[in-house]
Amino acid sequence: METYFDSDALNDDLNNNIYLQALNSAKSGIIITDNRQPDNPIIYCNKAFEDITGYSHNEIIGHNCRFLQAQDRSQPERQRIKDAVKNGKECKLEIRNYRKNGTLFWNELTISPVKNQDNNVTHFIGVQNDITDRKKYETELREEKASVEKKIEERTRELHDNEAFLSSIIQTVRESLLVLDADYKVLSANTHFLNSFKVTAEDTVGKILFELGNHQWDIEALKVLLTKILPTNNPVIDFEVEHDFPYIGKKIMLVNAYRVEFEGQYKDRILIAIEDITDKKEIDRRKDDFLSIASHELKTPLTTIKGFVQLLERMVPENSSDKFVSTLGKVSMYVDRLNNLIGELLDTSKIQSGNIEIHKEPFQIDRLIRDTVENLAIATPEYNISISSDTKATILGDELQISQVINNLVSNAIKYSPGTDKIDVYCNRVGSFVKVSITDYGMGISQQDQTKIFERFFRARDIQKKFPGMGIGLYICYEIIANHNGTLWVESEIGSGSTFNFTLPIMQN
Ligand code: ADP
Repeated sequence: METYFDSDALNDDLNNNIYLQALNSAKSGIIITDNRQPDNPIIYCNKAFEDITGYSHNEIIGHNCRFLQAQDRSQPERQRIKDAVKNGKECKLEIRNYRKNGTLFWNELTISPVKNQDNNVTHFIGVQNDITDRKKYETELREEKASVEKKIEERTRELHDNEAFLSSIIQTVRESLLVLDADYKVLSANTHFLNSFKVTAEDTVGKILFELGNHQWDIEALKVLLTKILPTNNPVIDFEVEHDFPYIGKKIMLVNAYRVEFEGQYKDRILIAIEDITDKKEIDRRKDDFLSIASHELKTPLTTIKGFVQLLERMVPENSSDKFVSTLGKVSMYVDRLNNLIGELLDTSKIQSGNIEIHKEPFQIDRLIRDTVENLAIATPEYNISISSDTKATILGDELQISQVINNLVSNAIKYSPGTDKIDVYCNRVGSFVKVSITDYGMGISQQDQTKIFERFFRARDIQKKFPGMGIGLYICYEIIANHNGTLWVESEIGSGSTFNFTLPIMQN
């Protein structure tokens, strides 16, 4: 902005009280310099200028403005002021100035020339605002921004490093892995996946899981499980997929899937691990076939041996020695034991092939418990087995199989509690079920083993050599009870004993 007015009039105006009052009440510091005089001295300053700079009116008038920069003379803004003054032009800038007490203040300065009618610059008006606080705030903001940017940069680098680390693990594991986004689009597939399914990254990455191959993963049950992962956080565990895959043929795959959150960065990713269990399944099947064939083949001659032993027992001559009779008794007992073991093996393979038959008839559970336990008690007189069972409940089920369960659990209670003499068998009603509990005070089962004892062929490591057994009794019990719509479970503490419990639904009249 350029201002034209008569310089003499200006002088008059400066004497004019009203204008002076107006200028003095302004918040901005205002000065007027006389360009016609050598070194462009200040001829007027208002009150705010005194306040901002700390100099008094008398110390200001007559000086060139440069005193405000003190020794800080190399600021490029100074040259801009000089140019503006030289060319009679307006300029606006921010410059470091110093108060009388030496402290720095940032000055937002506007210089405007005042011209007379001949277009000569007679005066300059300088308006200054102390913007130190704003500058400080801006600097802090800049520093804050820089520090945040630095942190983000470090964090990004860290995440990149982590990601690289993670991806190198994913690439090296010997399991097929896929990472999906929330829409089941494949974000990455590891080398093992690509090699196993004989596909390329282009065939896979960026595609929807259910469209991969010839829609081989488009399985309704898997879809249902996968759609629950993100909202519920529930993983998919050991889901078996049998499929004729392109390039690799018929395979059985075990699918596990988890929601992955990477340090709060990825919330909605799904990690799918796929294991080819075709060979394992085949080995298991052969093992089962072998067990089934072997136990059948053993059972037949054993039944014949048992028949001959019974015949011999009936043919024992009157005057036979005690030794002869007791030896025959032992043969008979060991044949029975062998028969039981083979029977268990046969049961296992029947369960495996789904061929176990249940002949359901109503029976009284109290009586069955009493008969079964009393039979065992006769064979083990050193044990005091208490029976408490007065439910008067009728069960619809296979009496022989339930008797086998009770027999197995009480036999185990005896077998695994050497050095003790007490076993409690307890049966009561719980709602529409009966609950049977068999408690021993023996060696107990570790927490870790408790999760495994109902699996086929599992035996606790420390007892393997001390006690005979094949580790299938509990597996059979578990399956029998499950087939009767009940549950079998254990509560145990190592060193204190175990309680095996099972439930059976009561027959409703
Ligand atoms: P087996 O007795 O032939 O080993 P089971 O299937 O009956 O097979 O039992 C599996 C395993 O569970 C046993 O080997 C033993 O380690 C453990 N177990 C079963 N019953 C008891 C019990 N009452 N106390 C302690 N351990 C037990």
